[in-house]
Amino acid sequence: MSRRLIVQKYGGTSVGTIERIRKVAERIARTKREGVDVMVVVSAMAGETDKLLNMARQISESPNRREIDLLLSSGERISSALVTIALNAIGCPAVSLTGRQMGLLTDNTHTRARIKQIDGARARKFLQENHVVVVAGFQGINERGDVTTLGRGGSDTSAVALAVALNADSCEIYTDVDGVYTSDPNVVPDARKLDVVSYEEMMEMASLGAKVLQIRSVEFAKNFNMPLVVRSSYNDEPGTLICKEDSKMEQPVVSGVMYDKKQTKITVSGVPDQPGVAARIFGALAAAELSVDMIIQNVSAENHTDISFTLAAADAGEAAEIMRKVAPDLRATGVSCNSEIAKISIVGAGMRSHSGVAARMFNGLSRENINIMMISTSEIRISCVIEKKYAELATRVLHEEFGLSREAVRSDAKSRPVKSKPQPRRKAAGS
Ligand code: ADP
Ligand code: ASP
Ligand code: MG
Repeated sequence: MSRRLIVQKYGGTSVGTIERIRKVAERIARTKREGVDVMVVVSAMAGETDKLLNMARQISESPNRREIDLLLSSGERISSALVTIALNAIGCPAVSLTGRQMGLLTDNTHTRARIKQIDGARARKFLQENHVVVVAGFQGINERGDVTTLGRGGSDTSAVALAVALNADSCEIYTDVDGVYTSDPNVVPDARKLDVVSYEEMMEMASLGAKVLQIRSVEFAKNFNMPLVVRSSYNDEPGTLICKEDSKMEQPVVSGVMYDKKQTKITVSGVPDQPGVAARIFGALAAAELSVDMIIQNVSAENHTDISFTLAAADAGEAAEIMRKVAPDLRATGVSCNSEIAKISIVGAGMRSHSGVAARMFNGLSRENINIMMISTSEIRISCVIEKKYAELATRVLHEEFGLSREAVRSDAKSRPVKSKPQPRRKAAGS
């Protein structure tokens, strides 16, 4: 009978220093001694990816994406080699593999490639030979043999995809907080760790700015029903289980409050209110592979209207340029950008069976005099666009409104008390 296989992914902070790398190696070796096969996926050391990106941007405003991929992939190569060296140093046989050596094939979309196929043969052989296999996350190769990367936070997706490809028994995501929280624990001190989150909720949370997991990793896990555990590399707390929604699972109305400040609103004003206008605007954006988030069209006055949409701030420059090109054809009177916005969202599977949730959200915001510019909803989410400067305040207000704070839980006799606090952050942005 084959042995159990566990995939463990360690994020940037977890391998951020030599001391941390030694600690991580000890944890991996401990798991290995329990008699299971271990496959490790590592991120670049904290701050490394940003550092490399900054260097490229100092040279060019729009560096070639193929070259960016080769550049960024080096961060994960370094950490995979260092973790392997640390494992060998404590007598644990280990070998590192880059994305290419792992046989991780992607499409050709440089800087945000999608995984097409994984040839796990080489990794399997090393595992059979009793080695820990340490894979450089975030990277693969396309069919031309060029290095590709999977988008920021992509090591999470590498880990889940490898767990699926190698039929692992579980996939553990080690990070610098104790699990998935009701809000970013580094922003909302009162945020509470969740014990279980459904794939659907986690996908919403991830797409709304909870960067603890890359959204694609959750999509992958959901499609292949691979349970994920998010836990801290600093302690032995059990973390958060992300799995299929279970009817027996307790379903709070709202499980989390998320905000995203990296959004921009673009308004195309004075367009004729006639068929085909929206199709032209969004067709042009789609042709450039830009994904739009929220869309709003004003009530028309004298057969003219304004169309506004939001998208990731990183794509706003390109989108605005495209809009300025199509504006004359549409006989629009102008194109404007507003980057001083934030999207604030509440997520919860329990929304399906509760009414009045939106009203409570709007009431909470209005009590603080926060104006709502746009609203969008899904079955288990409500999002509002507000002024950027109110993002943190709105998060705290909604957190309180829906009773998500630790205090609220402690007074609930059925719930377990929260044991530990998130680790203090050493880095500002992603690794
Ligand atoms: P890693 O380098 O381990 O991949 P990330 O920085 O990508 O770590 O993700 C972990 C961070 O995600 C946490 O430090 C926390 O600030 C942030 N975060 C945002 N929202 C949440 C949330 N709802 N629950 C937990 N962490 C969150
Ligand atoms: N190092 C990459 C990033 O910072 C990938 C990852 O950490 O998952 O986005
Ligand atoms: Mg991450």
